[in-house]
Order: sequence, then structure tokens, then C-alpha cells
Amino acid sequence: MTLFGAVELGGTKIRVGRGRGDGTILDSDTFPTTGPDQSFARLLEYFRAGPPVAGIGIGSFGPVAVGAARPDRGTMLSTPKAGWSGFNVAEALQPLGLPVRIETDVAAAGLGEARKGALRGVECGIYLTVGTGIGGALLIGSRIVNGAAHAEMGHTHLRRAREDHSPSTCPYHDSCAEGLVCGPAIQRRFGRSLSATSSNGPERALIADYLGQLIAALTLILCPHRMVIGGGVAKTPGLLGSVKTSMLRHLNGYASYPEQAHADFLVSPALRDDAGLAGALILAAEAGTAPA
Ligand SMILES: [Zn+2]
Repeated sequence: MTLFGAVELGGTKIRVGRGRGDGTILDSDTFPTTGPDQSFARLLEYFRAGPPVAGIGIGSFGPVAVGAARPDRGTMLSTPKAGWSGFNVAEALQPLGLPVRIETDVAAAGLGEARKGALRGVECGIYLTVGTGIGGALLIGSRIVNGAAHAEMGHTHLRRAREDHSPSTCPYHDSCAEGLVCGPAIQRRFGRSLSATSSNGPERALIADYLGQLIAALTLILCPHRMVIGGGVAKTPGLLGSVKTSMLRHLNGYASYPEQAHADFLVSPALRDDAGLAGALILAAEAGTAPA
């Protein structure tokens, strides 16, 4: 059986694994994200120590250069994470001499869901993560769709609630979705996580309103059949139902299509916290044959 390698490179932790090209994880390890050189030394050690793999797929935090046509493919773009800007993630794996394919962590998780999880058989799907940041990926026919760069759905502008003067956590935008709704923004505004607030309180109503705005915008632009919402904030019990109600309120009956009303239009990841690593294994299996 051919084994493949997977890397889920996050801002706070790194998960590595081995498994099958269909996304089945057979072994994995997790360690904290430190500087790039130290982190990749541990990564290389993991792959050198165990059974050989035929290729490696990476789902990386961003922004990162993705796409076969980009000469800077694999390069971390401007990131506040110390030491990582300009570091090339794909080149750092070159000592292993294996085909490598890189996508964002969100796109890898979306691919995992598209092939094995909640987006299986869905022609046009979106994977959105609402956690430390907000990111999204478009999947059509179970393939990741990038343009000139990966999507930045989390930086979509939202209309602020009149009473909400909490500063945005995004250094670029005063009222983008990530700046208003990501985990750190919620913590800063309410002094606690969303799951620690009352289920019927104004805190949850505000966050559901904002996420409803974001999802209404995404449905108007991309008309997905289904959206998977992952990430720590999205795990708040009952939140997805309130977000869906908010989305329909913001659309106000306009341009809606039947799938939006279905009970499974907004769902949690079926693979839970394994979506990203499973997707990276699938990327690894395609690394030698598909556009990088
Ligand atoms: Zn922003």
C-alpha cells in the first residue's frame, strides 16, 4: 500500500501524519508552531523516522502563495507571525525529495470534506472556518478553486451594528468579518468566548447577525449548494441555526434558491478536527499528477 504524508500547518500548532491517498489517516503527531526553521526540522524528522511516503500535501495558514503558475509558490506572504513572512514552505520540504502540493489550511479541510465528509457529492460547496481567524474555500466538483491567489472570504466587509464600537482585530479593515467575529475579536468584545455567553443573549444574536451577513454575501456571489462551517467559534451549540435565520433575514427573500432553505444548507464538518489532515493526504496523492 502506498503511503502519503500530510502537514496541517497552523498558527499555533502543526499536525503531521501518514495515511492513504483517499484521506484515511493512519498515524499522526502534533507539536506547537515555533519559528519556521525549528518547526520544519521537526517535520522532516517525523517523515524521515517512519515508513516512506510517496508525496506530501500541505494545508497551511495564510496568506501563502498557491497555484502552479506562481513562481513564488509556497511562500508565506505578509503575516504577523514572527519569522514566517517570506519563508517558503514547499522548499523547506525539498530535502525529502518528494512531490509536494500546497493549499491553504481551509482549502485542505474543504477538500477533505468534499471527498469524505459533508460536501461529498455536492457540486458547488464552500468550506468556511470561524476560529482564530476566518477563512473560506470554494470547491466545485470536489476540487479546490483558486483564482490568481487563494480566496480571502474572511475579509468581506460587513455592516456594523450601531451599538458595536469594539475595535476590529484586523489591522487592515475596520469592519471585515474576521475583524468583527473571529475568536480573538469575540474575546476582546465580550471578555469571554461565545460558548461562555448565554444562549439567548445579545452576544450570540450579534455574532449570528454578522455571520449571517457574511454567508448571505457568499451565497449571492457563489450560490453554493451547501456550506460547511468549521472552527472553534462555529462549535458554539445552536449557533448555525441562528446564523441561517440571520442569513435569510438579510437576503429578505431576494435571489434565494431552494437549497438555502434546506436543513443541511449550513452544516458542521463531518470529519471534525481531521478534515485538514485528511485533505492534505488527498493533496499529497495528487501532488505528482495534478497541477501543483
Ligand atoms: Zn480584514
